[in-house]
Amino acid sequence: MTDQIVFLMLADRIFLSEPKMTCLYTLMFYNVISYCISYIKELIEKENWSPYVTLTERSKIKHLAMSATKIVLEWTKAVTFIVTLTFTLVVFGLEQGLEHYKPSTIYTMTTWIYYSATEKIFVQMFPSMLKFLRLEVFENLEDLYAPVILKTFTIAVSALFVVILVPVASWRFLLIAIYLNVYLKLKDLVRKSGPALKLEREMLNHCRKATAEEIQRFDDICAVCLCNMIKARITPCHHLFHADCLRQCLKTNETCPICKREFGFQSVSTR
Ligand SMILES: [Zn+2]
Ligand SMILES: [Zn+2]
Repeated sequence: MTDQIVFLMLADRIFLSEPKMTCLYTLMFYNVISYCISYIKELIEKENWSPYVTLTERSKIKHLAMSATKIVLEWTKAVTFIVTLTFTLVVFGLEQGLEHYKPSTIYTMTTWIYYSATEKIFVQMFPSMLKFLRLEVFENLEDLYAPVILKTFTIAVSALFVVILVPVASWRFLLIAIYLNVYLKLKDLVRKSGPALKLEREMLNHCRKATAEEIQRFDDICAVCLCNMIKARITPCHHLFHADCLRQCLKTNETCPICKREFGFQSVSTR
């Protein structure tokens, strides 16, 4: 949240001639939008629509107090959602309410992209969006690529904005921006998301990618998932598997799933 405010303040200075607290209004609107989306998502994903809470998962005896609390809670959520939505529509409809709020299109686009790249609900949805693209380059590692992509992106834009503002903004503000939006995120990227991805990729890189000709000559299905192969990785013992299937197998046991030959990649890489 603090990094979002700092980024919006940076954007205020760059894109708007009269900032006048635009960042706070903007953040408020974005929060309302993400709140509405997360509520809708919750409704879509909800499986148990029964208003009653039973004593244990399997029993049919209803827990009265818990059920009452649950009903009140669900209703409160729904009412809050409707009230928030109505107020937002009213505020957008009445121009007087937004007299001092005049964001430019580029400002809205940039800040919204940054906001969605850092807000939990959208960050959680990002791997599924990547998976939807079905890009071969990810080799089913979208869950590990997603945080790396998002963090690299947010660090890069924040750093760019800080550089642009060096001649005009106060150095104290810029230092805070560098610390919160660049340093802390970079630290997280280098210590957590980066190594997690690197480890998985290194494991896979012991087995090179098979050429189209090799896949054709192999003329077989992947022995792990029993599906056809369009792209594949080839083991030192010349067996072909999907990259992701091979990765899953190597995680538990460093042997070929077909001929059981031991690879000993770990000892090779640590030597
Ligand atoms: Zn497979
Ligand atoms: Zn083999």
